Amino acid sequence: MIPLTAHLCQLSSFKLENQSEKNSVLMSINGELTMNQYSSYPYSSHPCSSHQYSENSLWQAELASAIKDPAELLKEVRLSPSDIPGGVDLDQPFPQRVPRSYVAQIQPGDPDDPLLLQVLPQSIESSFQTGFLQDPVGDKDAAASPGLLHKYHGRVLLITTGACPVHCRYCFRRHFPYAENRPESRDWGAAIEYIASNPDINEVILSGGDPLSLSTGRLQDISCALRDIPHLKRLRIHTRMPIVLPARIDTDFLHWLSSLPWQLVMVTHCNHANELGPEVKNALAALRATGITLLNQTVLLKSVNDNANTLSDLSESLFAAGVLPYYLHLLDRVQGAAHFEVDEITACNIMHKLRAQLSGYLVPQLVRETAGKPYKIPVTTAR
Ligand code: SF4
Repeated sequence: MIPLTAHLCQLSSFKLENQSEKNSVLMSINGELTMNQYSSYPYSSHPCSSHQYSENSLWQAELASAIKDPAELLKEVRLSPSDIPGGVDLDQPFPQRVPRSYVAQIQPGDPDDPLLLQVLPQSIESSFQTGFLQDPVGDKDAAASPGLLHKYHGRVLLITTGACPVHCRYCFRRHFPYAENRPESRDWGAAIEYIASNPDINEVILSGGDPLSLSTGRLQDISCALRDIPHLKRLRIHTRMPIVLPARIDTDFLHWLSSLPWQLVMVTHCNHANELGPEVKNALAALRATGITLLNQTVLLKSVNDNANTLSDLSESLFAAGVLPYYLHLLDRVQGAAHFEVDEITACNIMHKLRAQLSGYLVPQLVRETAGKPYKIPVTTAR
């Protein structure tokens, strides 16, 4: 059993509503919790969950009003199905979902708009492609416990939710069995116990889906469940939310971030400079003000960003917004996304041009994720 001691200093920043709440918190923090006790402790009522965050935020209303009907999306951007060469799929098993604030950044009347191509379900997604898989990065084999993936040394990935603010058509988790990993059915005790009993794990990555789809109260529940594990140094958050629904970065979320005891890293997911409108830049500035390290990962996507000028603009715009370009991913070969693939030779040629255009720190690392490998594989020369 691993002794876990709650930290009074971290609780002091939370506003306790009444004396009995204060007493129950003090009773808990004065004792030591053992791992077994912790496992049976419902994470939603861990004593550090004392700050009340809104459950009816503006961003949640905006999320609920996302456009789910491809016909409505086309109408919003003044196009008809016949304008889309790949055909529009009105009934995709991986359905459309796109926030209205994102749609507002799509150029009306342009069927080749790089933002539209990322979110509009096309008929070509349904044609089977050899070599493209349901689980191209080996998520299933890396499951350490329900909702917890342990692929790489020193860090684990917590699948916090299956929900996303946007359904990116190239998503490598588009077939991920989220139903088997729903929060209701998760054995969080097992996930926390796994992390606590592996002293080599110094970083937890909140992933999904998109972890910022959860309410801030739920995020606080998760951080409370983790905060007594002594060997954790960093919390990393992988999210597309600041890019596609910047209203999510509200005062509650910023308060929660500021309350966390670890070094914080957020890896945003932005694929094109057109995604960085004024609201997105404001959200990124607010995040920067908390002191969090902001990195970005991009997926190299055919017809969206597969040229050096587009990627150069993206790096410049990201850095101007306080975000360091980090990874440029080759497409994970997931079934349904073959039409986005850029081959390695083309990708390497783009990287050569990018290096010639940009300062070194603005050039992201071109990588491929390969199932079973101990790290993402840098792609430096064409095969
Ligand atoms: S936000 Fe991320 S997890 Fe969600 S659909 Fe897009 S790529 Fe996939």
